[in-house]
Amino acid sequence: MSYNITVIPGDGIGPEVVKAALTCVDAFGLDIKWEERIAGKTSLEQGGELLPKETIESIEKNKIALKGPITTPVGSGFRSINVAIRQFFDLYVCLRPIKAFNSPKALYKDIDLIIVRENTEDLYAGVEFKEKDSDTDKLLEIINKTSEKKVRPGSAVSIKPISRSASERIAKFAFEYALRNNRKKISCIHKANIMKYSDGLFLDSFTQVAQKYQAKVESNDVIVDNLAMQLIQRPQNFDMLVLPNLYGDIISDLGAGLVGGLGLAAGANIGEKIAVFEPTHGSAPRHAGKNKVNPAATILSAALMLKHLGEGEKAVKLETAVAEVIKEGKVLTYDLKLNRDDRTAAGTQEFAEAVVEKIKNL
Ligand code: NAD
Repeated sequence: MSYNITVIPGDGIGPEVVKAALTCVDAFGLDIKWEERIAGKTSLEQGGELLPKETIESIEKNKIALKGPITTPVGSGFRSINVAIRQFFDLYVCLRPIKAFNSPKALYKDIDLIIVRENTEDLYAGVEFKEKDSDTDKLLEIINKTSEKKVRPGSAVSIKPISRSASERIAKFAFEYALRNNRKKISCIHKANIMKYSDGLFLDSFTQVAQKYQAKVESNDVIVDNLAMQLIQRPQNFDMLVLPNLYGDIISDLGAGLVGGLGLAAGANIGEKIAVFEPTHGSAPRHAGKNKVNPAATILSAALMLKHLGEGEKAVKLETAVAEVIKEGKVLTYDLKLNRDDRTAAGTQEFAEAVVEKIKNL
């Protein structure tokens, strides 16, 4: 089987962690043609658009991309290029495994949790009205006429759209994922006690979908603030979480913190036809070009990509190789060291090469 895959190195530390991931994937000798495209700050610096047409066309054609983090320049037309890519291709699922991999920095060694974040709606949809704007004033007038609760004149307003169709499809994805991956329980995370209509609709949609799967997958619901506390104290109680966009964003970072930091947090943005694989972390500009940061999140995102392509065996090998390097503890980047100033910390590419050595012996 041969594959054409769009690769976007990204900004800041992006090119380093993506190079490390390609080093690992290429070790399998698969017939992959990497089609390199740019976006974000790198593209602007080369006189292009933040999200160039060639990049969009390449993703559209190949249907699969591996992407490094992208810096959204402050004051640009986009809130975030990353959010723009997800919305443009309707990549409605953000899949984020949270696994401890025996990292010395993990707060618990036995965490193995799957986060399924809705990726297209909620406060992240970017429907916002700024302070002291005539459109905002018109909106406030309507709200104050029609709602029992009044909004202070002069307020800024962000809209939180949640639809039944988007909530049902994310719930359905989660249950189908659970069946395919032998997961036993899904928790719907919400704040429906306060946001009765928006989060209430998310929860109701989940509950309806859950009924169809109740014979095979257990489900429950947990209020998001309660989840935050329980995740710190008893993360082992959770198997899969389904969350609206904003809570998913925040809880993903909390999850990363539990297992040893952003350097281990992989991710996939999945739609009906297109999928873009990227680490959870950003472009960490102050670490750029130092061959210092942890590439594991991007390597593990590439493992998710291999699984998505149907190369399950190689995906498992890649994840196992990363796990073995971390468990062995000889080649660890600074963020996985108990002391972050540890002079024996490995570099980004060194970590990737250690993973390749493990792959050869699996
Ligand atoms: P960040 O994730 O880039 O960095 C925060 C801190 O986390 C870093 O200073 C570093 O200490 C640590 N860190 C991140 N990745 C690491 C790694 N691989 N190994 C070791 N340590 C790591 O977050 P930020 O500073 O808030 O954002 C910087 C830029 O990235 C912003 O422009 C933001 O918009 C962008 N961003 C992009 C994405 C994406 O492309 N998907 C996601 C988040 C943020």
